[in-house]
Amino acid sequence: MSMKAIVKEAGEYGSLVIKDVKIPEVKSNEVLIKIKKTSICGTDVSIYKWTEWAKNTIKTPMIIGHEFVGTIEKLGNGVINFKVGDLVSGEGHVVCGKCRHCITGKQHLCRETLGIGVNQDGVFAQYISIPAKNVWLCGEGISESILSCLDPLGNAVHTALAFDVMGEDVIITGAGPIGLMSIPILKRVGARSIVITDINEYRLNMAKELGATATIDVSKEKISDIFNKLNIKEGFDIGLEMSGSEIAFADMIENMANGGKIAILGILPQNVSINWDKVIFNSLTLKGIYGREMFDTWYKMTVMLQNGMDKEIEKIITHTYHYTDFEKGFKQMMSGESGKIILEWE
Ligand code: NAD
Ligand code: ZN
Repeated sequence: MSMKAIVKEAGEYGSLVIKDVKIPEVKSNEVLIKIKKTSICGTDVSIYKWTEWAKNTIKTPMIIGHEFVGTIEKLGNGVINFKVGDLVSGEGHVVCGKCRHCITGKQHLCRETLGIGVNQDGVFAQYISIPAKNVWLCGEGISESILSCLDPLGNAVHTALAFDVMGEDVIITGAGPIGLMSIPILKRVGARSIVITDINEYRLNMAKELGATATIDVSKEKISDIFNKLNIKEGFDIGLEMSGSEIAFADMIENMANGGKIAILGILPQNVSINWDKVIFNSLTLKGIYGREMFDTWYKMTVMLQNGMDKEIEKIITHTYHYTDFEKGFKQMMSGESGKIILEWE
């Protein structure tokens, strides 16, 4: 039996093609999922563009994609927690299950982590088979479009909740989909102010609509210009780096209050140099964030969505295409004039 899938064929720019491939066999402790919707991640765009990171990481040919929602089509031997027909999404990081972190409930720290759609075939296909331990049973009352974005929303939740933000002044650098998703989360957990920066007018407008306290186009204004207006005396208490830009990161460090805490999700270039005096003498804390906590992040995000945050996250989904039009989706995403972009598989 065959299925359609979007395959990265060769190690070069573009080279994504819809192909007929074999439906994956369902091994023991795996679950076969029929895909309903997927969403396009910046990682997929990096694979499309064949960046340095992609060159060093991706083995072609490979089916790409890791953000999805679907229904369970078939259970492998030994699977007891799910039934055929269940609406599910899934954690894209497959962990070893045996190391010290895995057995102590900190799977997000597993050193053997493999990425679906990165190190093995992904979800831009009509079917995928994944380990049952990676399957997330979707909570009721959440739209399928949002359910296809739980992976990046989980990145936002993991980062925004890395430190206690209640009553704090927070800066987000980068108003990409994940930076935007962080706004409603920070509002829910009681941040005093939420300031977000970008160099993209379209995305800063989206941030305004989502209720950011202030938006700053750093190509035109300085971050510190906002302090007076918001009555921020010493700088930001919490920083969420979500741009991957070393300029943004350096700027954030300059504008932190003493004792400030920074969670870094954005994938910065290697060997970025920063002002260590600021980190050391101002007692800053820097914390790297990778993926989502399994499955604490998934649980919290489901509860927030069911308590009304879904209305705000819905606004971040700006485009939907049928999978046969995936090229349009990638082009739209590369234009920068988008939030999340969904591909439909039915
Ligand atoms: P994105 O690339 O869509 O958004 C990044 C935004 O930063 C863009 O809107 C861009 O215009 C903006 N930007 C560029 N230069 C800037 C500057 N100097 N100041 C402020 N903003 C600037 O990315 P996304 O999908 O929202 O993801 C955010 C980041 O998180 C990316 O770097 C991505 O690679 C990374 N990421 C990391 C993980 C992880 O597990 N650590 C997971 C997912 C994504
Ligand atoms: Zn492990």
